[in-house]
Amino acid sequence: MKDTPQTAAGSKRALSKRTRAVHAGTRRSQYGEVSEAMFLTQGFVYPSAEAAEARFIKSGREEFIYARYGNPTVAMFEDRIAAMEGTEDAFATASGMAAVNGAMMSLLKAGDHVVSAKALFGSCLYILEEILTRFGVEVTFVDGTDLAAWQAAIRPDTKVVFFESISNPALEVIDIKSVCDLAHAYDATVVMDNVFATPCFQDSVAMGVDVVVYSTTKHIDGQGRCLGGVICGTQEFVRKTAEPYLKHTGGAMSPFNAWVMLKGLEHIDLRVNAQADTALAIASALEGHAALENVLFPGLPSHPQHALAMHQMEKGGTVLALDIKGGKEAAFRFLNALEIVIISNNLGDAKSIATHPATTTHQRLSVDQRTHLGITDGLVRLSVGLEGTEDLIADIMGALEAV
Ligand SMILES: *Cc1c(COP(=O)(O)O)cnc(C)c1O
Repeated sequence: MKDTPQTAAGSKRALSKRTRAVHAGTRRSQYGEVSEAMFLTQGFVYPSAEAAEARFIKSGREEFIYARYGNPTVAMFEDRIAAMEGTEDAFATASGMAAVNGAMMSLLKAGDHVVSAKALFGSCLYILEEILTRFGVEVTFVDGTDLAAWQAAIRPDTKVVFFESISNPALEVIDIKSVCDLAHAYDATVVMDNVFATPCFQDSVAMGVDVVVYSTTKHIDGQGRCLGGVICGTQEFVRKTAEPYLKHTGGAMSPFNAWVMLKGLEHIDLRVNAQADTALAIASALEGHAALENVLFPGLPSHPQHALAMHQMEKGGTVLALDIKGGKEAAFRFLNALEIVIISNNLGDAKSIATHPATTTHQRLSVDQRTHLGITDGLVRLSVGLEGTEDLIADIMGALEAV
């Protein structure tokens, strides 16, 4: 098996993200297949008892023991996403939540302190609020958009700083470099959930992020087929901290799902750029519409952190939030009148998806908590897919008539 080098043959020229997305991490079997092989096997045969013994003493990234520890297809996906993200290594997990949980649990112990943005995806909030605290970890939540609040909360015993680069669903943008600088002043590790910015729109490592986690269920699959997650970081962190926790607690990604994700990476840049362009066109067309309180999209100049978003991201992302006048009833009339956009709760999919967070993904929260996070009863999250821009605008405009 032969790895594809990360730089062009014979030169030190760094390859573009698109080239890495297509070639990085490829390991070919003795058959020289073009498309990456799916090694749908949980175990591996040893040529002798001595070889088995030797492999258990020391197995590297080229020798495998058991799929909970590693698998060639999973390794290809890990190497490819690491090459795209610009980290030394990556560990693939069964879901995005296994990645968030694995990164946090492997770094923390009782008595440690964590500072986190409070605007989080529901399950991320559950890990920080309910699980970590049960094991004696102290968690301080801050308004992620307020640098003074981060500064006041981060202290000498802070071990981990956690946030979503763009929050779900209120689309708050975090000043990544400034928060990393504050965390690093106390040697805290920055763990960032980067689902909304995708591996394509920003250079997280250059801004100082130590550990980048993804739910690969979203844009990396991009077609709503499989669950998956990944933790990207230094080789030291991934292999010595995250891997021992994950391989013994069973959070591994299946080889089948890894193959789907690996192939998803080949065209993720084309997909998310098209989705982001359409999202901007929709947001611009909807802004000021009489049926809307507000259109939130980091790519629109009216977004409260537009300048920051455009400074750290190439595009505004693929998700927008519409606050529909008239609360839940109006939002439901809108959702039910959509003909192309489907009602579901995934995002980053080829199919455009509308979600009513207050009654679905964020139902668990109290009215107070929701209000605090900007999740009004009229809020609809719109994940923009790959359909024709004009068709989507016509569908959404038509549904707003029904409101
Ligand atoms: C979906 C999502 C997750 C969880 O991912 P799963 O693959 O569903 O486990 C975590 N964080 C964010 C921001 C998400 O959107």
